[in-house]
Amino acid sequence: MEALGTRAAPPPAPGGLSGAGGWGPPDPAPEPKQLPELIRRKRDGERLSEEDIRDFVRAVVDGSAQDTQIGAMLMAIRLRGMDLEETSALTQALAKSGQQLEWPEAWHQQLVDKHSTGGVGDKVSLVLAPALAACGCKVPMISGRGLGHTGGTLDKLESIPGFSVIQSPEQMQMLLEVVGCCIVGQSEELVPADGLLYAARDVTATVDSLPLITASILSKKAVEGLSALVVDVKYGGAAVFPDQEKARELARTLVGVGAGLGMKVAAALTAMDNPLGRCVGHSLEVEEALLCLDGAGPWDLRDLVVRLGGALLWLSGQAETQAQGAAWVAQALDSGSARDRFERMLKGQGVDPGLARALCSGTSAQRRQLLPRASKQEELQALEDGTVERIQALPLARVLHELGAGRSRAGQTIRPGVGAELLVDVGQRLRRGTPWLRVHLDGPALSAPQRHALQGTLLLSDRAPFTPPSPFTELVLPPPLEQP
Ligand code: URA
Repeated sequence: MEALGTRAAPPPAPGGLSGAGGWGPPDPAPEPKQLPELIRRKRDGERLSEEDIRDFVRAVVDGSAQDTQIGAMLMAIRLRGMDLEETSALTQALAKSGQQLEWPEAWHQQLVDKHSTGGVGDKVSLVLAPALAACGCKVPMISGRGLGHTGGTLDKLESIPGFSVIQSPEQMQMLLEVVGCCIVGQSEELVPADGLLYAARDVTATVDSLPLITASILSKKAVEGLSALVVDVKYGGAAVFPDQEKARELARTLVGVGAGLGMKVAAALTAMDNPLGRCVGHSLEVEEALLCLDGAGPWDLRDLVVRLGGALLWLSGQAETQAQGAAWVAQALDSGSARDRFERMLKGQGVDPGLARALCSGTSAQRRQLLPRASKQEELQALEDGTVERIQALPLARVLHELGAGRSRAGQTIRPGVGAELLVDVGQRLRRGTPWLRVHLDGPALSAPQRHALQGTLLLSDRAPFTPPSPFTELVLPPPLEQP
């Protein structure tokens, strides 16, 4: 796990976040009539200037842009794309829509974060933030909600009764002082423009846009004042970009735009064909994250946590190699120190101390009683013998979405207990009639089309049982940085 990786192309040369424009008071609002013209220009494939992009973002935040105009502009960007300078300008405009976070000088090297482009069963942030805190890092994680078929870290955490994702910059500083990490959402103070565009993208089929993803992720991270960031860029059947080459292009854009803004960003390419771990769904994923924090749980989840953490500790200059950083993260999981940080984070973010204690010290069965549960469970049996080649995460996520685990309208409430547990592992031999999936659902029983779709997610073969490869395949590194 040495620092093998490809290097991103040299970054574009946009102004840094602290450069011209600064964080000063907003300029006067543009005339709303300009928006149709900006939309038309992007629709017709023209470039938008930095000022055009600032005007659009300002209109989104001050409410002068109508929802239809926001949707139209997002679709124009989705269809026509943006070059690196436009993407960088959008990132800066989103970041500057709220407050820049500032931390004590002494924390400089310790400030790290990780973000994912979105997967199915991806609960890595819930485990990695406290594990990095246990390794001495400060992790001011501004995370997201579910987007399209992918689950959101904030929604998962909100399935824990009392957990509050809205924290002021002052509260975040206090959490970093006493816990070492916090996981929060964007708010009126923190990157408000991303919150608005994110919700609009989720319901306008504009999630899979390279510039919109880049600006959304990096704007949140730019305000965090980080020493290093690793973005987990998923590829495969259930990723926003299934094609590995397209995901690599996203990884290079993230690394390049990040470097142009003065951020040390690396991007890991990780496979997202099967769900990560054995649980999908909000409270089920919290349970599985707790298992990983016990030093147990599914191997692929732990593997990703440890490797991403190792890369971050190395990139920020705290560990000499990625392998050394990975060993520190593994130790934090095995010793219980990461779980201790998680408990402290829960208490610091509003969870009753008794509940936080019980969740972190209880057995799986006890934990299940403490988290929201769906009203019933249904199991599916294998229809034939075979070796599990794949459990296709995308159709599985789509059925769970239909059952209430995702949103189809902005602001819609989700059902935290809805989800699925895989009862088998990829590579294992399975006999006909063996239960392989347990679905947790509210409301009516699974319909015939839903059962059919779920059975179709299980791909069996005749080959001998095998050990699946690690989901972590490649690390895209920033251009050489000056030595401190
Ligand atoms: N995470 C984000 O914050 N934004 C995206 O667009 C995708 C993943």
